[in-house]
Amino acid sequence: MQLHRHPLLSPAPGTQRELVSLHYGKPGGQKAYIQASLHGDELPGMLVAHHLRQQLDALEAAGHITGEIVLVPMANPIGLSQFLLHAHLGRFELMSGENFNRHYPDQIAAVAAAVEPLLGADPAANVALLRRALKAAVQASPVDTELQSQRRALMGLSCDADIVLDLHCDAQAVMHLYTETPCWPDCEPLARFLGSRLTLLAQDSGDNPFDEACSQVWWKWKAHFGERFPIPQACLSVTVELRGATDVTHELAAADARNIVDFLRWRGLIAGDKPALPEPQGDARPLAGSMPIKSPVAGVLTFLKAVGEDVKAGDVLAHVIDPITAQVTELTSPVDGLFFARDFLRFANAGMRVAKVAGKQALRTGKLLGA
Ligand SMILES: [Zn+2]
Repeated sequence: MQLHRHPLLSPAPGTQRELVSLHYGKPGGQKAYIQASLHGDELPGMLVAHHLRQQLDALEAAGHITGEIVLVPMANPIGLSQFLLHAHLGRFELMSGENFNRHYPDQIAAVAAAVEPLLGADPAANVALLRRALKAAVQASPVDTELQSQRRALMGLSCDADIVLDLHCDAQAVMHLYTETPCWPDCEPLARFLGSRLTLLAQDSGDNPFDEACSQVWWKWKAHFGERFPIPQACLSVTVELRGATDVTHELAAADARNIVDFLRWRGLIAGDKPALPEPQGDARPLAGSMPIKSPVAGVLTFLKAVGEDVKAGDVLAHVIDPITAQVTELTSPVDGLFFARDFLRFANAGMRVAKVAGKQALRTGKLLGA
């Protein structure tokens, strides 16, 4: 294993953060890129990365890693160090207010124009050419801030990978995934290995989150070049929501790491017999059908349903209680679906989104991701 350090732009004299990447196997074949805790306060991924590292160390010592595997065990040193009044704030950069998982740079048009004279009839050759050009464009892109330099470093490590896994978590949730619709055929086996209850599908959901920045280049280039040159969907990029924020146990993390290794073995990056595909534990549904449950009033929040339950339209999911008037407001599901995530806060502000139910029909439009 080789350990590489990537210094970020220094925000102030005497201050220098860095990203650390762990490199297994060798370049030339399939490449997997896995990062943990891009939202710095989402810790399950960091523990999975710890277990994954031990498993990869053993596999490498046995000579079993046949592809290239890059692991960034802690993807957001800025967010990891942000505390305010004893609260860990790892989702938004305190300097800019920007979400660490949005606004990844888009080099699609520039790279398409640069490589067009070199493209041909061989899809694999086109993929190699586009990857090289994309990586060079990412690495040459100017940055003004520490946050931009972190985004550039993460994209530089990942943008030429066949498989990208971005390990996150929700507040309280079942295992679920986000991926772009063109990735679903390649994601379906991953969902089985991870035991995911739900995969939320969208295309260009808005504001360029990390996973979409890695996968969208391919379907956008395919649309751009049309019949002229064959461009496959060469990257499976997935946001893996490792349940809830406090689901940080050795048992879960070791099992999740084993499941990721099984998937990588199934894909051919690790030597050994191809493991059998597990039975699916869930299905894929449109992100536009994932309905946020909002509280119209403020009060004490208590849930009547646990995550993982199938609910019907009209089912009461939670009560919001005004302690002064004793008024109880029922929060109901707008659709039949899987109650897959809920907040861990137990006080709701008026207008707060406190839970999510995934229905099967696409009902929402516009930007589909929350803040
Ligand atoms: Zn997250």
